[in-house]
Amino acid sequence: MASLNENQKFWARVTELARQSIGKQAYDFFIEPAQLMSVEQDTANILLDSGMKKDYWKKQSDLITTAGFEVFGRMIDYELYANDELTDIELRRLNNQSPVDEPLSVAKPTSPLVSGLNEKYNFENFVQGPGNRWTLAAAIAVADKPGDTYNPLFIYGGAGLGKTHLMHAIGNQILTDNPTARIKYVSSENFVNDYVNATRKNQMESFENTYRNLDLLLLDDVQFFSDKEGTKNEFFNTFNALYDKGSQIVLTSDRIPQELNNLEDRLVSRFSWGLTTDITAPDYETRMAILLIKSESSHLEFPSETLSYIAGQIDSNVRELEGALNRVEFVARANGISIVDIETASQALRSLKNATQQSLSNLTIKKIQDEVANYYHISFSDLVGPKRPKEIAFPRQIAMYLVRELLGTSLPAIGTAFGGRDHTTVMYAYKQISDKMKNDMDVQKDIDSIKRKF
Ligand code: ADP
Ligand code: MG
Repeated sequence: MASLNENQKFWARVTELARQSIGKQAYDFFIEPAQLMSVEQDTANILLDSGMKKDYWKKQSDLITTAGFEVFGRMIDYELYANDELTDIELRRLNNQSPVDEPLSVAKPTSPLVSGLNEKYNFENFVQGPGNRWTLAAAIAVADKPGDTYNPLFIYGGAGLGKTHLMHAIGNQILTDNPTARIKYVSSENFVNDYVNATRKNQMESFENTYRNLDLLLLDDVQFFSDKEGTKNEFFNTFNALYDKGSQIVLTSDRIPQELNNLEDRLVSRFSWGLTTDITAPDYETRMAILLIKSESSHLEFPSETLSYIAGQIDSNVRELEGALNRVEFVARANGISIVDIETASQALRSLKNATQQSLSNLTIKKIQDEVANYYHISFSDLVGPKRPKEIAFPRQIAMYLVRELLGTSLPAIGTAFGGRDHTTVMYAYKQISDKMKNDMDVQKDIDSIKRKF
């Protein structure tokens, strides 16, 4: 619970914002007589002098949200009470400021075990896209029938693409359905630390009690698992114990099981008993949807062209995408801007862009053409020549797309660089590949792999 001081600050800010945004008469009538009784959990309890003023206050959520973020740094909701409508219980509760005596809401059930779960990550706030569709479906299936459908579930993919998010979502869902479920989320590093501590302190029994009696083990980033013999052995035994009693195991990694050199084959082969599924980078639509959701909790206004601009800047990592949005928000706030325009966004992201441009500054059309030809095993002369079979025309379109995308070269100039083609041909190629980038995973992967070479 927040200290009184913070509550006062919060309320002062609410009234100040109100004074700035509404007329004096309305302020004196609706705002002035209101009192902040308490802030419990993330809810501000506000007492009005009359029930008829509730409707007006219901429309003032901006004041509360803004002040809440400024003072508490998080989303604050609010509950309205009116002097002329209060029951005795409510009045007592508000005056005592004691949520303990008369809890308004039933306490959330918690697992008897320290689960390590983060409630923030759930299925509802996970945006589905072509890059994560199957993995999301598998995760939902696992949460629905743990230990049944896909066991273990092995999720792999690059950094910041939602692997950890999905793990927590599975755990939270299972915990909601079954509040007594024994669940543990742990990074591989912490599993190793727990084990090392247990052996050092002679507490192996308690370690095994914890880990081998779980209903669900979520083990994150197994590529960081230590390759020490003892730990690996313990992991192997834990895995077997859990698997044998039908407990669900979910693992993540940045690579496929076969590439995990830190783990033994006998363990890696067990990973494939269940389902191995990957997450790839979000396409443009998914990035937009993620930005839309994340920007909703901001009290600034993000027009869609601004979000589109941000989505165009960061294309391979959701964590960075969130970081970019935060950065833009920060700069907008610092400049007192409430409707965030592209100009502000581009200013905020300039330093980010500089970093990527640095690595692209040596890039030339020729280099892109060479890499593409190389990637698809065709010759440079075919790539820019007149031949038109699919095996050549497709890489050519990819190369044109990349030149346009990465170098911003004009359409006619690209046409020239590709054997003197017309600019409409280039435009067509660009459109073809842009469309495919939205829903064709193979094309996304190709482009990703080629880009990584630069
Ligand atoms: P990973 O474990 O794959 O490195 P995380 O699960 O930590 O990635 O995701 C990084 C951030 O991006 C988190 O804040 C997560 O909530 C967010 N995120 C990733 N994918 C999505 C998605 N599809 N929808 C919403 N948020 C996402
Ligand atoms: Mg992670």
